[in-house]
Amino acid sequence: MPLSFDVRLNDLTGAREELRGVTEGSRAASSQASVTPDSSLLGASPEASTFFIETFGCQMNAHDSEKVAGVLLGRGYRQVDDLDSAKVVFYNTCSIREKAAQKVFSRLGEYRKHPGHGKIIGVLGCVAQQEGEEIFERAPWVSLVCGSASYSKLPALLAQLEAGNRRVTGLDKDTDETFETEITRRDNPFRAYLTIIEGCDKSCSYCVVPFTRGPERSRSSASVLQEVRKLADLGYSEIQLLGQTVNSYRDPMLRGMSRGMTFAELLVAVAAVPGIRRVRFTTSHPRDFGPDIVEAIDSVPALCDHVHLPVQSGSTRVLRSMQRTYTRDEYLEKIALIRSARRPISVTSDIIVGFPGETEEDLADTLSLLDAAQYDGVFAFQYSPRPNTSSLQMADTIPEQEKGRRLAVVQDRQREIQVVRNNELVGQIFEVLVDGASRRPGQWAGRTSSNRILNFSSPHSDLLGQYTQVRVTRASPNSLIGEQVEQVV
Ligand code: SAM
Ligand code: SF4
Repeated sequence: MPLSFDVRLNDLTGAREELRGVTEGSRAASSQASVTPDSSLLGASPEASTFFIETFGCQMNAHDSEKVAGVLLGRGYRQVDDLDSAKVVFYNTCSIREKAAQKVFSRLGEYRKHPGHGKIIGVLGCVAQQEGEEIFERAPWVSLVCGSASYSKLPALLAQLEAGNRRVTGLDKDTDETFETEITRRDNPFRAYLTIIEGCDKSCSYCVVPFTRGPERSRSSASVLQEVRKLADLGYSEIQLLGQTVNSYRDPMLRGMSRGMTFAELLVAVAAVPGIRRVRFTTSHPRDFGPDIVEAIDSVPALCDHVHLPVQSGSTRVLRSMQRTYTRDEYLEKIALIRSARRPISVTSDIIVGFPGETEEDLADTLSLLDAAQYDGVFAFQYSPRPNTSSLQMADTIPEQEKGRRLAVVQDRQREIQVVRNNELVGQIFEVLVDGASRRPGQWAGRTSSNRILNFSSPHSDLLGQYTQVRVTRASPNSLIGEQVEQVV
């Protein structure tokens, strides 16, 4: 495992000096590169090159972009916040729903209007994996196409561009490697994302992720813990472990180990690293969610009291058609398990409405599941047929307008539930990690361990990054309002 560096947003200017040592090799190589009109921006003088990354989609994409930025910083590039001043532009794309996938093509279309833009354009992520070299046909000004399953090859692809290649691709999916970088440029100065499992081996019939992100690959617990210790040394106190099915984590066996850590054991070990005060994890798959995870949350206060456990539908018939591998009742048993914990654990979920063949009765099942589960938050989506998924074979017969109606019905019911649940919290005191300051003096925002947003007032200044106690005074469906009761540094 190479020495790894971490760069925070606030530290970027200073950190570049420290990074010099690890970039010598790559810069020496690039200084000998042959130069073509496009690659001159990269090959001649990377340290003079600026890059901009736009990210679409989930937290895993956001974290992938942090790692891509780290790879570029390690090669001497400088990150800029506006596209116009960037020499290299990367779009890290999402294709989970059609609308998300279309966004990148509308971005790429803009370059048609500016033929002399002189930029190197790269397309990363799920759309890159899905569309492959066709992207070069649709947008000939693109130089790099790399799918998320091939990110471990990204440094080599950049080296090829620096060496004068005009077009490079990383589209293999049969990798058993995870994308670990020497440098990661982290956007949030308090909370660090850390991918512990990449890809997905489930085969939900509507989902493009197994195709775009490849098979499941877990990172070894030793390497995860080594990175957590470094993050703690850098001052991060909150770690969010990421994976499409994070709790399907399987520790790769190392020589001399009789068995690897289970997911629950890894959670406990991460929480035990000195300096770490909060550990989150997302997304959990219901099938692999067992009592050991609840037991770990119950016994270790640093493990946050929040589980994101997407159900997708309340109808067993639809769940079967979605190939979700559990029934409504089995799912509700997992909810009962979480509710049996000694401390309250907040639960959130994802729901898809308008899946092929979904009837009014199925929708009613989803609404009654919302009542039974009593979620603290729900992300609801209209079904969107995706390429390379098995549900494409099922006729998408529900009109978009009707899908929209069902979405509104689900959101309305969930809003009513959240109004009641959040109102029950008025008067209670929570610890928050302060991660936002309002323009209005004395107004701050933070998150509770249960991942609720709590906006609060305090006479103190400079609270960012601190943990403090806040009493809830009012509640709205999506956030809480409160006042600081005591400051804990
Ligand atoms: N791996 C996670 C899981 O198993 O729940 C979720 C991954 S996905 C990035 C996030 C959410 O997008 C899913 O939970 C699902 O609700 C939604 N989603 C995925 N494919 C979809 C599709 N074709 N149409 C609408 N929503 C979709
Ligand atoms: Fe997609 Fe299902 Fe895998 Fe989640 S578990 S990423 S929804 S295939």
